[in-house]
Amino acid sequence: LNQTPAIESEFNRIRAIQHELGLSSSRVKLGIGDDAAICEPPKENLLLCSDAMVEGIHFDFKYTSFEDLGFKALAACLSDIAAMNGEPLYAVISLALPRSISKKNIQEFYQGAKAIALQTKTDIVGGDLTASKTGFFVDVALVGNAKSPSTRSGAKPGDFLAVSGLPGASRAGLFALQNFPLSSCSRSLLQAHLRPQPRFDLLPALRASQACTSLIDVSDGLSSEIHHLAESSQVGFLLEEALVPLHPDARKLSADAFEWALSGGEDYELLATFDQMKVEQEGIPNGFKIIGRALEPNQGIQMQRIDGTRSPLVATGFDHFASS
Ligand SMILES: [Mg+2]
Repeated sequence: LNQTPAIESEFNRIRAIQHELGLSSSRVKLGIGDDAAICEPPKENLLLCSDAMVEGIHFDFKYTSFEDLGFKALAACLSDIAAMNGEPLYAVISLALPRSISKKNIQEFYQGAKAIALQTKTDIVGGDLTASKTGFFVDVALVGNAKSPSTRSGAKPGDFLAVSGLPGASRAGLFALQNFPLSSCSRSLLQAHLRPQPRFDLLPALRASQACTSLIDVSDGLSSEIHHLAESSQVGFLLEEALVPLHPDARKLSADAFEWALSGGEDYELLATFDQMKVEQEGIPNGFKIIGRALEPNQGIQMQRIDGTRSPLVATGFDHFASS
């Protein structure tokens, strides 16, 4: 890549911002500034994941501030660590910057990332910067630790299917941003869309109960995530519409609130299956609500509507390659 001296010096200034905002706990021996960071290895299993967000596909600066984007890009990747029943350790963040992006924009981006990093005790230890001829691009990679990782593959027929939080709230927040003035939008829906919280808070209860048989986070919408669990665990599922908890403000906004839960995505809630007997003995772990059951694989993936009719549950989650 041929970079003009002007771009190169701008990059140096941005590296200074990264350096300033990068966090360092004692487990980081050498942070931002060298060819690679030097960090203490995880104590148990090393988790490694990444998450990319592209302007025009995942976000629009009409509705998202740089600070919100920094927060959300890291939060989305952190959610994958939560979905493995792990805790985050180190993050590297790479950005591709169009010419229109100012130093202040980047500072705001890192302030947002720093807020969620501090909250989740994640060290930002490096990354890369490049120019972009089209939109803004961000890639976050994370290293985490998991004593006993939860995967997508342990569900068995009869298990309860349960979700945390209020799925569809993020999509409802986007709908509000797109259709109403900011001042009249529900704060809580905006928060769900712009500043999603990875659900590390639910993991202590989940670990204590030992009832969890499979775990995934809701990044693409309930319907797609249920299909992912079904495929990995080789089971069927029944989702009951009447049991799915929806945000009251989303219900007020539109009759599509349930559709948003199915296919809206970006909720970063946890979707889990729980052993039936353990749940009957000790209840469902705090923060989860039962929304269905795992079935035999030959029963397929079904949805029961409020009126009692059943139909196949189609994976309608966010499709990044769809043309519309
Ligand atoms: Mg995930």
